[in-house]
Amino acid sequence: MKLGYLIDMDGVIYRENNLIDGAAQFVDALISSGTPFLFLTNNSAPTPEDLAVRLKHLGINGVSPRHFYTSAMNTAEFLSETHPNCTVFVLGEGGILTALHDKKIANDAINPSYVVVGEGMPTMEKLTKAHECIERGARLLATNPDNWCPVGAQKTRPGAGSTAAFLESSTGRRPYYLGKPNGYMFHRARRKLAELALGNPHDVVMIGDTMETDIRGAIEAGMYGFLVLTGATQLEAVGDYVYQPTRILQSVADLTDEIKTGKVSDRLNSPVYSHSGFHGGKPGNRHQTDVLAHFKPRPRPAMTK
Ligand SMILES: [Mg+2]
Repeated sequence: MKLGYLIDMDGVIYRENNLIDGAAQFVDALISSGTPFLFLTNNSAPTPEDLAVRLKHLGINGVSPRHFYTSAMNTAEFLSETHPNCTVFVLGEGGILTALHDKKIANDAINPSYVVVGEGMPTMEKLTKAHECIERGARLLATNPDNWCPVGAQKTRPGAGSTAAFLESSTGRRPYYLGKPNGYMFHRARRKLAELALGNPHDVVMIGDTMETDIRGAIEAGMYGFLVLTGATQLEAVGDYVYQPTRILQSVADLTDEIKTGKVSDRLNSPVYSHSGFHGGKPGNRHQTDVLAHFKPRPRPAMTK
């Protein structure tokens, strides 16, 4: 059975500027076995070229810009397909500006068709400008719904979702979110993976560390969703979700041998299932509106809406 892999980056391959143990060997195994793969990230700030250089500095070789698909590229494809000749006012940096430029979508700070929110640190002045554009009729769109993003073991930063929430609050307009878990992101990623593989893989596996984006999107798109515990999700929290990962892995290193040998494991002999006694239904920390939550440390808000 020929599998193709879609792989999230933050919390899967690296955390901050540290490579996750075994990630380099995992990518080596994909490349040497000729297994099709594509890195799929909701971070709209870097370009594919930036990401390839970043991986190289972290010690991962053999990856080129064509191995990346970002929420910025997804947003530009969505706009050029659904609304050719539209114009945009952008809150964001790097990757989203480049992706829109590549699709020949013009910037317009006076009367744009869309305000596009990406990752970045907007000034109050730019937020005010975006607010005014929306008041004049621009539609509100965000590259990804992440309210916060991990930048270290105990540290987060505000994400594009929180910038979009600011504008939703000030204008009363609801944003439309591209990026994971939006089906358009997975549909386009599958198509790009097939182009790289010169044919459709029989099945596609999404590997990610976030339930609300990686696993939810994969399951809804009819793919396998493999959760790794090296990023945003703790094992105890998995039972809280309606949708469940196909497999739970300590890290991508658990897959290296399978990829080398071509022998695919199933969920029952997946390392976490067999060693922890986890059966998928264990209740973890509940949402903060639950009564019992008053007696527990306050959980983080959901990563997305
Ligand atoms: Mg991640």
